[in-house]
Amino acid sequence: MALSSFFSERPSDLIRRSLLDIENLAREDLEWLLSRSQHHQPMQAEAVKKLNTLRGKTIVNLFFESSTRTRASFEIAAKRLDADTISISAQGSSLSKGETLVDTLNTLSAMRPDAIVMRHAASGAPHFLSRFLPTPIVNAGDGRHEHPTQALLDAITILDNKSSLDGLNVAIIGDIAHSRVARSNVHLLSKFGAKLVLCGPATMLSPNMAHLAERIRLTHNIEDAVTGADVIMMLRVQLERQNMLPFPKNEYFQFYGLGIEHLKLAKSDAIVMHPGPINRGRELSSEVADFPRSMILNQVENGVAVRMAVLERACGVS
Ligand code: ASP
Repeated sequence: MALSSFFSERPSDLIRRSLLDIENLAREDLEWLLSRSQHHQPMQAEAVKKLNTLRGKTIVNLFFESSTRTRASFEIAAKRLDADTISISAQGSSLSKGETLVDTLNTLSAMRPDAIVMRHAASGAPHFLSRFLPTPIVNAGDGRHEHPTQALLDAITILDNKSSLDGLNVAIIGDIAHSRVARSNVHLLSKFGAKLVLCGPATMLSPNMAHLAERIRLTHNIEDAVTGADVIMMLRVQLERQNMLPFPKNEYFQFYGLGIEHLKLAKSDAIVMHPGPINRGRELSSEVADFPRSMILNQVENGVAVRMAVLERACGVS
């Protein structure tokens, strides 16, 4: 088969089924994904966790960057829907033998998977590939750009605790500049009317972030950010995307780490979130990580429900 046959323009249905980012996703798609994810939530606690909506479908998980939560979560989600899955990481693939990314993806597409889940260090890599491949692509995190399934799972975790996203005060704190989680959350939460405060040191919070969406305020002061917050979302310092070694961990924590004393400034029912992996004593204290309104493990659990919905949409069986 000629390689060029894989480079023909993709039918719009394939484009529609890909999940590349939150920014360009229509509100009705977001609403469908959120409600389908919520539909899958109760199953996660059942004794038998199996549906057969993706029986006979094949999902390829392609991770060119490290991952624990996202990769395991996509794999578990696919298995709970009875799909066949394979997982490939860059180290064990032919990329380490000099094959280009496009050739690797075309090779995998030639085996006719129904969806490719992809994480890559380059912002825009899944967008670029999705223009050519005959397979829906799900972005599992591209560089510092977006992490759409993280924003979806964060939204349903918030909705487990709050009646609506509309009008909610959400503080996002930490390394905003290098965080794909921050970008996806800003887009999703603003589409649903949340009021956002982004907080971090000047080197991690560009003034341009204020233009990402409406109703965003920037501050460099953590007390200011958490005051009156309904939701406090902490971010890991993305050292892999910076040249800041050695990192001044103690100083960072002193100015931007979330301690139990900060929670007194937030609403009395405020929840704390973090996409993980957490660094205790850097972004947040152990006391905060383990306190009752910390939703960190609830986020992980909800990730499976979200990825089930996303894979159903990608495979066109929804
Ligand atoms: N797990 C998230 C991501 O892949 C957050 C992080 O790594 O800090 O972006």
